[in-house]
Amino acid sequence: MYDVLVKNGKIVTADSITEGNIAVKGEKIAAILAPGDEPEAAKVIDAAGKYVFPGAIDTHAHLNDPGYEWREDYAHGTAAAAVGGYTTIIDMPLQNEPAMTTAALFDKKEAAVSPNAYVDYCFWGGLIPDNFGDLKDLDDKGCVAFKSFIGPVSPDYSSLSYGQAYEAMQIIKEFGGRAGFHCEDFSTIKWQEKRMKDAGRLDWQGFLDSRPVIAEMLATVDIIEIAKATGCKAHICHVSSPDVAQKIKEAQQEGYDITAETCSHYLSLTDQDVIKNGPMFKCAPPLRSQEEVDRLWEYVIDGTFSGIASDHSPCSYDEKYNEILGAKIENVFDVWGGISGIQSGFQVAFHEGCVKRGVCPTVLANAMAAQPAKAFGIYGRKGDIRIGFDADLLIVDPDKEWEITSESLLYVNKISAFVGMKGKGLPVCTIVRGSVVAEDGKITAEKGVGTLIRKLK
Ligand SMILES: [Zn+2]
Repeated sequence: MYDVLVKNGKIVTADSITEGNIAVKGEKIAAILAPGDEPEAAKVIDAAGKYVFPGAIDTHAHLNDPGYEWREDYAHGTAAAAVGGYTTIIDMPLQNEPAMTTAALFDKKEAAVSPNAYVDYCFWGGLIPDNFGDLKDLDDKGCVAFKSFIGPVSPDYSSLSYGQAYEAMQIIKEFGGRAGFHCEDFSTIKWQEKRMKDAGRLDWQGFLDSRPVIAEMLATVDIIEIAKATGCKAHICHVSSPDVAQKIKEAQQEGYDITAETCSHYLSLTDQDVIKNGPMFKCAPPLRSQEEVDRLWEYVIDGTFSGIASDHSPCSYDEKYNEILGAKIENVFDVWGGISGIQSGFQVAFHEGCVKRGVCPTVLANAMAAQPAKAFGIYGRKGDIRIGFDADLLIVDPDKEWEITSESLLYVNKISAFVGMKGKGLPVCTIVRGSVVAEDGKITAEKGVGTLIRKLK
């Protein structure tokens, strides 16, 4: 007798789509059966006509908890993730108060968020100039990677110089960790921003021109070189440009363990959205041209990316239009940079990829589950539909049409660049370790069902 049987679905993995039934015992996948083989189970879910994906993994989320819960908290952020199909999120250490940069803070954060999670979560450890001595302890705690910035960062965090990155990656290499970077060259951006301001170019085209692809390219190439020199595993966060993705692909082809992610907004929205609609579409790196969006998909398809992340970077309405922490917004450069997308990441990727571009669903299973799990050291539990893995499953109705409305968002702040977007193909049931946590846009589990996942040793 099994606990759950998901029957009649098209089971999607990184390499195949097969019809069959998935039997769950406790929290694990216990059997994968041929069509018609239907053992008894306490709960039977009929997935006829639907895809059954491995639960998606969001490699890059900012849930702001503890510290800035009025931007997002675990209850709202992970509920949104559950409805949208991310069964594991990897949460960022910054925009926490304080930023999570020591082992003691790891425990404090875990205690604060664990009663409220609806999906499983991993922690990125902080990587700032003054916590190099804490990195090993954070790894021992189970951090799946370390997050740093080459380039501007929010006030509660500090970016690294290339020299500091070189030292940090020597340390991280020693214990087999992965260093992840926001790659936008600081000097390039600061200079361009000054040029724009001096010229009175305070419009959205001025913002876009202040963060050119070359800034992203310079920082990425430098981090790749430091990774090669140190032998440290690296991860390039939120790649917006296909030319940058090409550099990463070349390093991968040379045999270096350099992973990267892109985000659902870089695969769907463009610079024209920024120019037309402004604040809600501001993010960093910025949105690129339609031609670059189309070419970026090629790197999803060829497996360069280990993640289609949300980079869920929530804020209040005021922080997009009026003021941030008491400071009045004077121009485009002051506006909060970040897009909320943890609820819509999978459906946007499915629509833009599988529906619009004819991408095989196996590509999403690879880019959103298998490869992220491998890159962040949780494959074996997460990222695949195999016997013995956690029963994290995502049932997707490929024919269901949708429109994203602000009322449908479960965020603390029900605002997003994705509001108004329409598409086809929607997660209709999300299962985390055998528990159905969301169905048809609604949460069906109790808070606290999500648990901390530590890097597998
Ligand atoms: Zn981020």
